[in-house]
Amino acid sequence: MSVKNETDLEDQNAKTSQNKHPHSGSAKNESHPELSVVVPAYNEEPNIDELCSRLIAVLEGTHRTFEIVIVNDGSKDHTLDKLLQWQKKYPTVFRILDFNSNFGHHNALWAGFEHVRGDIIISMDADLQNPPEELPKLLEKTDEGYDYVGSYRLGKRQDAKWRDWASKIDNYLRGHITNIAMSDQGCMLRAYKRSIIDAIIHCGDYTAFIPVLAYKFASKYTEIGMRHAPRFQGETKYGLYYLLRTHFDLMTGFSLVPLQVFTLFGFVLASGNFLLVIYLLLRRIFIGPEAEGVFTLFAILFFMVSVAIVGIGLIGEYVGRTYQIVQGRPRYVLRKLYDTQK
Ligand code: UDP
Ligand code: MG
Repeated sequence: MSVKNETDLEDQNAKTSQNKHPHSGSAKNESHPELSVVVPAYNEEPNIDELCSRLIAVLEGTHRTFEIVIVNDGSKDHTLDKLLQWQKKYPTVFRILDFNSNFGHHNALWAGFEHVRGDIIISMDADLQNPPEELPKLLEKTDEGYDYVGSYRLGKRQDAKWRDWASKIDNYLRGHITNIAMSDQGCMLRAYKRSIIDAIIHCGDYTAFIPVLAYKFASKYTEIGMRHAPRFQGETKYGLYYLLRTHFDLMTGFSLVPLQVFTLFGFVLASGNFLLVIYLLLRRIFIGPEAEGVFTLFAILFFMVSVAIVGIGLIGEYVGRTYQIVQGRPRYVLRKLYDTQK
């Protein structure tokens, strides 16, 4: 769902269509290219030139028709200006979606998917952590008939240590709690066939875990190892809080196991407490009242209260998710679509 304001579109079309660069011929069948590459970008100004030049070189090497859909996710730097310069150079290759403000990585990716026209869709990040030169590996797999090709980062992670550990724990828990056997959901260089993208964007799921949704919808899934580089320029947009949130979203969005585990735990605890009450009662009758041991009781009480609080939080996660769906707010607000073709 999106709110669009495309009033200046004709204007833009008029401007850019007169300005065709010879290379733009590489996207021959513009209205229905074979490949669409979707890139969300938030404050990526120093990376745009490197990204676009390397990506175009790789795409031209595939000898397929292509388009690049870049979503400017409310950047506060000059990301958009840079992108528009590239669109001027390659008017038929670039489609640029400009958001009103920052709506987050996954919503940006979602918006890109809603606007692609290709048969095979490739997602990637703007920071060049996954080198675009790895892209042909994905196409080999889609050519073999896979409708979703995921990827995992080869070798040592090129992120901060804590990020590495956080995503290892995340990947482990997800595998066990949600039954989703993906080695690395954080690696965004992925390829999807059109049918998978259609299924994703028709899905009303509010938390847009695109790699995971695609996994659910794919009939033939495979994963390949990708080289992984440090960020080319700039800093990661994600801190610890974001990672924790993502983790909760994923667990509660794709599984009821946390609720069930909690209920089971509640049963075990209740049985233990029942025995404790019997014991205390018998003790009271046969031995008499006790003044000592109060702290032990407090300890047990505190423990149970904290368990109850965790339970309330867990239920809150599910209620919150339902609330978001009921609100039905748009995932993003599009300020303008810079497109040279209708
Ligand atoms: N990104 C975005 N909106 C955001 C945060 C990030 O579009 O609110 C983009 C960002 O420009 C990059 C990708 O999402 O292309 C991944 O972000 P980042 O590299 O900061 O994440 P990390 O690789 O550290 O997980
Ligand atoms: Mg990154």
